[in-house]
Amino acid sequence: MDAKYGSMDTKLIHAGEISPRIEGAITLPVFQTSTYEFEEGLGYHDIPYIRMNNTPNHLALHQKLAALENAEAALVTASGMAAISTALLAVLSSGDHFLVQDCLYGGTHDFITQDLPSLNIAHSFIKGSAPETWKSKLRDTTRAFYVESLTNPLLEVTDLESVVAFCRENGLTAIIDNTFTTPVNFRPAEVGFDLSIHSCSKYLNGHSDIVGGAVIGSADLVKKVTRKLNHLGGSMDPHACFLLLRGLRTLALRVRCQNRNALQIARFLSQHPEVENVNYPGLENHPGHDRAARLFDGFGGMISFELKGGIEAVERFTDRLRLAIIAPSLGGIETLVTRPATTSHAGMSHEELKEAGITDTLVRISTGIEAPEDLIADFNQAISP
Ligand SMILES: *Cc1c(COP(=O)(O)O)cnc(C)c1O
Repeated sequence: MDAKYGSMDTKLIHAGEISPRIEGAITLPVFQTSTYEFEEGLGYHDIPYIRMNNTPNHLALHQKLAALENAEAALVTASGMAAISTALLAVLSSGDHFLVQDCLYGGTHDFITQDLPSLNIAHSFIKGSAPETWKSKLRDTTRAFYVESLTNPLLEVTDLESVVAFCRENGLTAIIDNTFTTPVNFRPAEVGFDLSIHSCSKYLNGHSDIVGGAVIGSADLVKKVTRKLNHLGGSMDPHACFLLLRGLRTLALRVRCQNRNALQIARFLSQHPEVENVNYPGLENHPGHDRAARLFDGFGGMISFELKGGIEAVERFTDRLRLAIIAPSLGGIETLVTRPATTSHAGMSHEELKEAGITDTLVRISTGIEAPEDLIADFNQAISP
């Protein structure tokens, strides 16, 4: 970490930028070249080549991302799923077992339950906020613990301090998907996580125009993940690197605005007579509020809620929205609305959805950076019976 770029806002602009500037260019150009002139004495992993994740566009991002989370090193990948699958395959081998939070991003859930077992990598699901139950799931072969900072779509706050303490006590690698919180609101290395993972397709890029991922952590572990990525090939393209670096520069402005907008919208919804309940960790009555207030610098841009009128009311609501767009994904500058039961969690059976507390009528909002009064007016006209 470069101490001279002390604050988040300054690091976002200056950390990792190439010095001296190339031809004086203020913006790092796209190095649209797959290969580079041969240099004597370089090992396989050090040859400059896009798949080796070591071109100038990659290296600038690696330094900036590591600085943002006060970690030693970082790596960008072709997608969030490339980051997750490659990190897990770097940390776990055949015969290993790991603990996994029971509520997960759908792609991660499917990778762990459908792909890892055929590589003889076993898992046990645990409840992220019930640390007293974790010990009984430990095996001699348990090597890692995988959690998400906020669950999707119910926005539960995992007991992250207990996860780190449990990993220390039992020699496990602590891995967190930090996509929903972003480095602006939470920096996992500061509480002792070994690896932090992002889907950069969401807040880090922030403009809904690329897919990308990142793995951030200790130099040793990131090197291990990098070697695995060099082999598996899920590297980020230089043009996507360029867009991600550009998007990152406004991360703090965007996320702080999304924190503020989401809190206002959550308060509006929670006071509306047609609204049954609201899940947002910034609301004082949310079960994870105290933990979120202690760990996070902001409560994020994601909200979910249920209307009183059932399916009919939800359909009327989504039909009537004029500003908020009905679309999956999240973390961009525009406000998006989805029904998780029919989109992100459509792969789950009715029973699984019920068990997870995701009803047919649950609506998820990814808050954008529009004026909050305009968003609230849009939600208000769409909700009225
Ligand atoms: C979107 C998402 C992913 C997957 O990222 P992709 O870039 O779509 O591969 C992983 N984790 C979380 C929490 C996400 O929201």
